[in-house]
Amino acid sequence: MRVPYVAMWDSEKAVAEAALAVALTPEPPRLVYQGRELPSDRDGFGVLWARRSYSPGVGRPDFASMYPGRQYECMYAMKCQVCGGPADRNKDGWLFFDWRNELDPPSWPEGALSAMPPLCAKDARLSMTVCPKSGAFTALRVRAPRVWGVGGVSYRLTVDGWRLNHGDTDIWLPKDDPGLHSMLASKLIRELRKVTPVNPRDLHHAVKEEIVAAFRKLRRTLARWSSPRAQPSVPRPFTVPVEDRLNEWLPDPAFLPDSAIRSRTRGSWYPMHVVEYEAKALEIDPEAMAARIKSAGGTLHGERLMRRYVYDPIPPVEGRWVRLRDAGGAVTLCVKTINSDAIDGTQETETTVGSFEDTHALLGLMGLTHRSYQESRRSSWLLDGVRLEIDTWPRIPPYLEIEGDDAEQVWQTAERLGIPETELTSENTQKIYARYDIDLDTITDLRF
Ligand SMILES: [Zn+2]
Repeated sequence: MRVPYVAMWDSEKAVAEAALAVALTPEPPRLVYQGRELPSDRDGFGVLWARRSYSPGVGRPDFASMYPGRQYECMYAMKCQVCGGPADRNKDGWLFFDWRNELDPPSWPEGALSAMPPLCAKDARLSMTVCPKSGAFTALRVRAPRVWGVGGVSYRLTVDGWRLNHGDTDIWLPKDDPGLHSMLASKLIRELRKVTPVNPRDLHHAVKEEIVAAFRKLRRTLARWSSPRAQPSVPRPFTVPVEDRLNEWLPDPAFLPDSAIRSRTRGSWYPMHVVEYEAKALEIDPEAMAARIKSAGGTLHGERLMRRYVYDPIPPVEGRWVRLRDAGGAVTLCVKTINSDAIDGTQETETTVGSFEDTHALLGLMGLTHRSYQESRRSSWLLDGVRLEIDTWPRIPPYLEIEGDDAEQVWQTAERLGIPETELTSENTQKIYARYDIDLDTITDLRF
């Protein structure tokens, strides 16, 4: 029998409770680990997560338990709980399984809380036929699976330190609950909104579509490889760490996926797993492109001037820099550190500040002089859930960026906008500048 990706293995051991400690600042006392905290220890709400050794495939699987990190990864990034690949999604939403329990509202399945990550169509169909319990659960399409909170164990502070609250072996708390500071989380919970129960026959259809899509993707990849023109410009198409992309999206949280908001508020949990699909079409006419997006049914979500200063810290530290950014009204100050030993590489401490100019002046008074200044213009569009940005940078022609949840979505959108696939690239801004023989690194002042 196949072992689900999220299942726990008996070789994966929990870290002893003795590793837990109390942090008295900031108030209230918080649950922490002794010693250095790892980037993966805390989630976007600041909740501490259960640590466990990682050795999937070693020993025997425990089908009844989910490994916290993999549960989180699947639930957060909408991956299939069985194979770890992308979960299925169609116009009615993501594919989930759920069964009614006593905590569910009378409106169930609408508004149900679930700790079970979504599934791909193939595995959903397999589970329906193979799993003996399949009669007990219902396949659902969920258009708005909102992050609701976390599940885990709850501690209470005593004179001897943390004590497990009796009977609380699996409590679920919403993401704004004050009890989260003494919680050790092991699962991410989503609230299933805009739910449609699935007819098993539709699932069969979804599997077919998935297979067709996989073939189409393969064909496109092969076409790309054999196209001499596209070869040098598309080294690793569409795979970009999500964090940096999301940071660009400050002003309009209303149309972000909720994962994005959390990722922005406080580092991210498993950034190495979270992948956003994006592609750029270079040398566009911004007005003509805006008109094309509009006539395809897209909506404009703001135009803004983005500005950023980069400073060296005092004293200078290798791999660390200070960044002040104005993303069109939302001004943030951030220190980034590249840790060679961390898996995800970059750590980020960020806060929102008031005025861009005043903060720049304050930093100057504190002795920080800027290493570089850059500005760019961005107009953000949304077309059927796909994010489109018309980016204008000084000294180079404007380009369009298409960001979707999967590569297929990106290609389809490009097609709708009349952009041939061969015109797409995944180069970063620095590389695009290099196309015009400009070394972005050497420009200390880049403005219109
Ligand atoms: Zn799967």
